[in-house]
Amino acid sequence: MAFADVNDLVSAAENGNPRAIGRLISMVENNAPTLREAMKLMSPHTGRAHVVGITGSPGVGKSTSTTALITALRQRGNRVGVLAVDPSSPFSGGAVLGDRIRMQRHATDRGVFIRSMASRGHLGGLSAAAPQALRVFDTAGFDIVLVETVGVGQSEVEIASSADTTLVLSAPGMGDGIQAAKAGILEIADIFVINKADRDGVQALVRELRNMVALASYGPGDWKPPIVKTIAQEEVGVDELIAEIDKHRAHGEKSGEWENRRLKRAASEVEALVLGTVRQKFAVRGRDAFVQVAAAVRDGDLDPYAASDQILSSI
Ligand code: GDP
Repeated sequence: MAFADVNDLVSAAENGNPRAIGRLISMVENNAPTLREAMKLMSPHTGRAHVVGITGSPGVGKSTSTTALITALRQRGNRVGVLAVDPSSPFSGGAVLGDRIRMQRHATDRGVFIRSMASRGHLGGLSAAAPQALRVFDTAGFDIVLVETVGVGQSEVEIASSADTTLVLSAPGMGDGIQAAKAGILEIADIFVINKADRDGVQALVRELRNMVALASYGPGDWKPPIVKTIAQEEVGVDELIAEIDKHRAHGEKSGEWENRRLKRAASEVEALVLGTVRQKFAVRGRDAFVQVAAAVRDGDLDPYAASDQILSSI
């Protein structure tokens, strides 16, 4: 290995070395034994990047929008990281097609790092793995990290909503409203993006989203999600989108929501680790731990709460 030890690896990542960044993210995915040490070393370097979650049904244009955002953000001098999270896929390490296309365009640019991630072996599943991968991007000094989630399942919604700013994409003619409402995706939007604004039905979708925003209750001074129209393919509306992303950050920093959300993110990250650790302990012991007390519970000598207390205090 090109890196002498974990110290060396983290220092290289701090300097933006792409191989070091990639390696650290693989360590997160695989729950490598040296991950703990790496996290400890990275911790003081985190908290700077603006994490922007991008979510929406397949086909709305998440990948295309991500690519357009990278281009525009690079133009204003930002270093941009992209984490594509696909809970349904066992593949990772930049193997997905969208990544390959984007890679070509930004392949030689050290200011861009794109990586897709699966949950493979991580103790706390994707809910812990994704924020840890964000720590790696943060350590490497990226100004903005785009977290693109594939699909609209519960874990994607969770990951997208733990971002500092969450974009919810929809597109005309896809029946998105209903689909998104089902997945609970609308409640998490900080910014609604209507992509494919070159298509028919944009106004109807604008109305639908406006009505939804109007139905929600906002306190005075609350951030009210704006609706931005884009044609990602032609890079139209992207600067307006970035302006709203910046505004959302400024608003959050002023209102305290920024710190608030980061607190929640840290809490869920730790929670996922704790629960993952507990699960792993039982996986190692097998069901024996439960069987041992089961007879006493069956025979009425021990109530189930006392039994569960006994087991919990033993770990
Ligand atoms: P994802 O599945 O959400 O990542 O969607 P993609 O970015 O892969 O886009 C799905 C399809 O929509 C692709 O064929 C894109 O070329 C196309 N697409 C993306 N943005 C636009 C747009 O603004 N207008 C139109 N007409 N097509 C778009």
